[in-house]
Amino acid sequence: MREPAGGLTPFRRLLRRLRDIMAADLPAEQRLEQTVSLIAADMVAEVCSVYVMRAGEVLELFATRGLRHEAVHSTRLRVGEGLVGDIAAHARPLALADAQSHPNFAYRPETGEEIYHSLLGVPILRGGRVLGVLVVQNRTQRHYTEDDVEALQTIAMFLAELAASGELVSPEERRPSDGTGLMPIRLEGLALNPGIVIGVAVLHEPGVVLTRIVAEDPEAELDRLRQAVLGMQDAVDDLIAAADLAHGEERDILETYRMFAQDHGWITRIAEAIRSGLTAEAGVQKVKDDTRARLSQATDPYLRERLSDLDDLANRLIAHLTSSGERPRRERVPDLAILVARSLGPAELLDYGRRLHGLVLEEGSATSHVCIVARALGIPVLGRVANALVRVEAGETLILDADNEQMFLRPREDILAAYQEMLNNRDRRRRALALIRDLPPVTLDGVRLSLNINAGLLIDLRNLAESGADGVGLYRTEIPFMVRSSFPDVNNQAELYRRVLDQADGRPVTFRTLDIGGDKALPYWHEEGEENPAMGWRAIRIGLDRPALLRQQIRAMIRAAGGRPLSLMFPLIAQVSEFERACGILQLELERAAARGAPLPERVSTGVMLEVPSLLWQLPALLRKVDFVSVGTNDLQQFLFASDRGNPRLVHRYDILAPVMLKILANIAEAAEAAGVSATVCGEMAGEPLEAMALASVGFRSLSMAPPAIGPVRAMARSLDLGQARKFLSLLLDAPEPSLRARLQNYALDHGIVA
Ligand code: PEP
Ligand code: MG
Repeated sequence: MREPAGGLTPFRRLLRRLRDIMAADLPAEQRLEQTVSLIAADMVAEVCSVYVMRAGEVLELFATRGLRHEAVHSTRLRVGEGLVGDIAAHARPLALADAQSHPNFAYRPETGEEIYHSLLGVPILRGGRVLGVLVVQNRTQRHYTEDDVEALQTIAMFLAELAASGELVSPEERRPSDGTGLMPIRLEGLALNPGIVIGVAVLHEPGVVLTRIVAEDPEAELDRLRQAVLGMQDAVDDLIAAADLAHGEERDILETYRMFAQDHGWITRIAEAIRSGLTAEAGVQKVKDDTRARLSQATDPYLRERLSDLDDLANRLIAHLTSSGERPRRERVPDLAILVARSLGPAELLDYGRRLHGLVLEEGSATSHVCIVARALGIPVLGRVANALVRVEAGETLILDADNEQMFLRPREDILAAYQEMLNNRDRRRRALALIRDLPPVTLDGVRLSLNINAGLLIDLRNLAESGADGVGLYRTEIPFMVRSSFPDVNNQAELYRRVLDQADGRPVTFRTLDIGGDKALPYWHEEGEENPAMGWRAIRIGLDRPALLRQQIRAMIRAAGGRPLSLMFPLIAQVSEFERACGILQLELERAAARGAPLPERVSTGVMLEVPSLLWQLPALLRKVDFVSVGTNDLQQFLFASDRGNPRLVHRYDILAPVMLKILANIAEAAEAAGVSATVCGEMAGEPLEAMALASVGFRSLSMAPPAIGPVRAMARSLDLGQARKFLSLLLDAPEPSLRARLQNYALDHGIVA
């Protein structure tokens, strides 16, 4: 297909004829019929058919050349059914020399297709959605070439515009039936950044209608592409410069994004599409669709997440090609806007700016770049909301409740009033907590608790001073590793850790060495997929098997500390000997620094994350060796109950306030105290006032939590008579019930404890 530019190649002639058919003043179905005839003739295929997506995920035969005519509007396949359904389900082409022997082949007698052996089909894609399927078939066992596939994909772009125009199937039909009329609806999603907001829906519409697909002059189009790429790169530079984000990981993310914008492979593929006869914008669109089809099948989560970055760049480039540049989004966004998008890149989020109140995504995951930036900007995000874009109307009222993983469209008056009341209460509570921010978390009977924050981004450090916390109990070091395109070197790491310590301004910070592996994949770290990643080759196991990695990280920490104290802990320790080996590596690095005359940390404290149950039976030996333990109750609970912490079906199955959990925690606290070792809890439970009350009651004096929890836990502490609560709880640790939650709630209520 890729014939040299210049002269009118047969493929470009075909594109022109397609363009003329599309522009003809004829009913849409007639244009479709002419199109299938033209394609069949041009591709020397006995059959060419178009299936269009109708309501309920059904693909209906709309036009055919070669199959029986009575099958039109009668043959229907569900998405996933038959080969056509398979192409739609996976949004990817299928080329088969012997289609009937494929396990998904579904025979439809009304079509008379039994005589055709080979099949080539491509999805008709627009904005990443499948609007239909285009198929050619041959009697012989034809081996379709890569060029055949490419040609059919390009042709499908014309059909995408036709299908999107609403002339074949009205857009109303595709709207899910539960959202018809003005009925209130509740949708569920995944909390990607917590928070509750009420606002006005704004739809993110990156899709630009391609008015020109066929190029008159490929050289001129290549020139337009070059200009647009330059314009886009400048605009991305400006955006990054204006973003006003702290130097740190957010900036790294945007730098990676800038790299994508300069990616030669991407731009070369677009240029190739243009040389085949497309306009510059159609070339960008084609490469975008191809990339989406390819990457959405990837099992590597990093690659899948990069899809939104690439979509974002492609949309940006199309905007540069079709208008005078970036869309002036900021001005268009109303107050209290909640943006609804299929996916969003981090730079797109910045386009909308801080005025955005909330974000709803059809895709997205907690580690996607847009979520990291949203966290930095304090914007609540609800992800994985199925069909959000077709269900939400622009301008309508939304309640985005990421805390409870739900949203309400057109909420009823009573729901709206209840949420409004809740937000007002939160506001009052926030103001009340601000008043006690500078008061110490001392219980009524005079016990001082230490409240610390968990952090993972440089920007989190801001919360240290704002919340009045004592220090950073857990600094998760993996995020900077996850957002880069290569391993950060020792200098980079040292610079980051130095900034963390600088911003902590003398308050203690406990760094945790890398907890990567398993589901926290690094883009540049290609390991075999694991059956059971949570229990796989992760965390300290990688560190001990690849000591160079751990050494570099520890070297960076020593360098960052300079002469200051250094506190570090190792994740997922299952045996005391693993801790000893990790300390051996630390020792080597301390000696290395000393031999070079580098300043050594004033003092080094080492500890373990206590999150694997096997350690519970090694406490005496462990406590003789460590300076501190930090209980990771998230993992400890998952391994204790053999219950995957990421499985939504199990979230509420075992309560963290189960007597057995609290009894184990009581044992840890008691053993640590007897050994004179400090013990902290840094799992999520430490940030819930009721749970924090239980933790203090079983003996923990130090807790580490998400920054917003500091205020509520401080208020709890200041209203608690710890001696009394301790007595009450100690009698319940052998109770036969699955949870002590209700009893603790009642206790708090009866004793005026703010929990
Ligand atoms: C834990 O497991 O409780 C913990 C704090 O570590 P993470 O959540 O990072 O696994
Ligand atoms: Mg953990």
